[in-house]
Amino acid sequence: MILKKIGIKVKFASKNRVHGWGRRFTDDKPIFVEEISGLKQEFLTLNQISIVGGATSYGDSILSNSRKYFSTKLHNSIAIDVENAVAICGGGLTFRELLAASLPFGLIPCVIPGTYSATVGGAVAVDAHGKSLLAPNCMSNSILQFKLVNVMGEQIVKPEDELFKLTCGGLGSTGFIDEIHFKLRKSTEYLCEERIRVDGFAKLIDLMFENQTTKEFQVALLRFGKARDIESLLITSVSSNENRKEGRDFLTWTRYLSLFLFPLKYLPFTVLNRKIIDIAVNLQFASREFSPQIRPLVNCINPLERIKSWHFLHGREGLTQWQRTIPFQYTYELEMILQEILSSRFAPTLITLKTLHETSKGNLGFVQPGWNLAIDFNYEGEVFLDFLKKLDSQIQAMHGKPYLAKDDYLSSDECKRFFSKRYFDQEQNMNRYVRNASKQLERLFML
Ligand SMILES: Cc1cc2nc3c(=O)[nH]c(=O)nc-3n(C[C@H](O)[C@H](O)[C@H](O)COP(=O)(O)OP(=O)(O)OC[C@H]3O[C@@H](n4cnc5c(N)ncnc54)[C@H](O)[C@@H]3O)c2cc1C
Repeated sequence: MILKKIGIKVKFASKNRVHGWGRRFTDDKPIFVEEISGLKQEFLTLNQISIVGGATSYGDSILSNSRKYFSTKLHNSIAIDVENAVAICGGGLTFRELLAASLPFGLIPCVIPGTYSATVGGAVAVDAHGKSLLAPNCMSNSILQFKLVNVMGEQIVKPEDELFKLTCGGLGSTGFIDEIHFKLRKSTEYLCEERIRVDGFAKLIDLMFENQTTKEFQVALLRFGKARDIESLLITSVSSNENRKEGRDFLTWTRYLSLFLFPLKYLPFTVLNRKIIDIAVNLQFASREFSPQIRPLVNCINPLERIKSWHFLHGREGLTQWQRTIPFQYTYELEMILQEILSSRFAPTLITLKTLHETSKGNLGFVQPGWNLAIDFNYEGEVFLDFLKKLDSQIQAMHGKPYLAKDDYLSSDECKRFFSKRYFDQEQNMNRYVRNASKQLERLFML
């Protein structure tokens, strides 16, 4: 066994404001606990404290009523067992740090969420998934074990344990997830990326099914075409041993766009009205180089990562992402839902469609075989939430599921309808461990 120790980097999580990616909920006076001894002390005195990883969940998952936060950033050690393709890392290690350590060995995590700022502990807590078509592609299915720190002390949790099901996707409700052992897989540092414009929904569905056996990653961006049908930009990639330097393409102008976006952080209103959204989407569909391109893996999988602060475009009201899985047998209904959304008065700013082929091991896991639809909207008040709740009742009828890392509005009863018995088991057991009392956990579990 070759155990390559990459080292322990120390960072200080000094933030004067806490908010999720959607920025709908903010805490301007957070009190941070950074040392594990401090967290244990909070547990011992039965205080409420919220665990914060990369803060890339969208809603109120990390927000705390007590204003106390445990930042996991100091817990970013990593060791890689190259021979067995296993990583052992601290709960606060980001995917950016993880990839920087593993890619030189030709290894990548089986699950890479859409932002490299997410932490591995956070990805376990929300049971994250990625764009990969190769199994395992859901965090709970790639984990060998982790250490859990909670009111009961410290314990090692393995996939066969009941606590494993409660913790993966449990939104931190069972305690701090640390020392995670998980599988890596082989990959080249460069990928060959293809982009195809597809007219018509049926054609897109056929292509996405075909790609499952020939490609490694896939995601489709959707929009409403001129004839009010669904058009898409299907992006796929496979490993490549070529390592041509990337040319000037849209990734180059995204760097300049980032500089322009930064001041927008301070804008009180959204600049994403329907016209601007249409222009941005048209640019995406029109200005692409469509011949296959060799690109570094990190740019291929998450191109938006290069545009820093793009979520600030949504203004102070913030954004809501509505992300649902829909079993494959409801493909026709999926199209109907998309038509309903695209012809509503609420203009989506981004629509992505992916495929999922596994079932997560967590009780509240989002992953199940089916379509993975994610839609960004400007937050537009109660009427807008009523619209989403109407869509939710259709999703429930199709046995679909919400991705709780993106949820910012479901009530306890609405959540129960999605997760049924598994949800109740979770709730019952959780009360024994819970001290990570985020606003979301309070809302969903009525703590
Ligand atoms: C641009 C973008 C793209 C995304 N794409 C994807 C995607 O493709 N797939 C996907 O699954 N998700 C995606 N997400 C969501 C995001 O990746 C997940 O929410 C993320 O994995 C959470 O990790 P985090 O470190 O940011 O956790 P945070 O947002 O900080 O916390 C999320 C929850 O986990 C808890 N938590 C965090 N760390 C720990 C820990 N160590 N121990 C116990 N509890 C903890 C928190 O209390 C909170 O309840 C995306 C987000 C963004 C902004």
